[in-house]
Amino acid sequence: MASRSLHSILDEIRALASDEEFRGTLTDLGVDRQHVADRVRPSEIHRLCRRSSCLFPSPCRHLHVDHGPLIELYRQARRVPGVRHVFVASGIRHDLAHADRRNGEAYLRELVTHHVSGHLKVAPEHVSESVLRVMRKPPLQEFDRFRAEFERFSREAGKEQYLVPYFISSHPGCTLKDAAELHDYLRKHNWKPQQVQDFMPPHDPGHRYVL
Ligand code: SF4
Repeated sequence: MASRSLHSILDEIRALASDEEFRGTLTDLGVDRQHVADRVRPSEIHRLCRRSSCLFPSPCRHLHVDHGPLIELYRQARRVPGVRHVFVASGIRHDLAHADRRNGEAYLRELVTHHVSGHLKVAPEHVSESVLRVMRKPPLQEFDRFRAEFERFSREAGKEQYLVPYFISSHPGCTLKDAAELHDYLRKHNWKPQQVQDFMPPHDPGHRYVL
């Protein structure tokens, strides 16, 4: 995993903010992976790592997640002269936030309070337990927990803002029952999909696809 130092990112923000064309808004500070580190040396991963995912079915004990530096980056970026808004437009990893027992909640509060331009992208991917397992994604409870946190922090900040969840339809392992479960979940939360991304295996001549 690669990351940039706090100073390097702040230098770039200062350079940007000093440009006469800059209007005060950083549209996407992104989700730099500086809060994630692997305790196993890169040269040894091939030999020592037997897992297919660092986070599924539970966070690997060698994975060190600390959002402290990211919180500090957000705070310092907001203080750069000329900067009025710092937004995060990239999708965030709610499972990584929850894997950080020390600073995960503080990070979500900081993000939701100061860095959402109205909508925040997140990718629960699906709601069915069996499909999420095939995807190697965290269970739905994890997303529901995040949704509740997002609503609470938005309310406490006095802001009306919304989640933009990303779901995949027809992923391998997804049955009609799973699709109906996803449909019911969307309806229950009054989410009306604006776009649909469908998973279509290309080498199945006997299969018909309807969108
Ligand atoms: S699963 Fe664990 S050991 Fe393997 S790459 Fe991820 S953090 Fe490192």
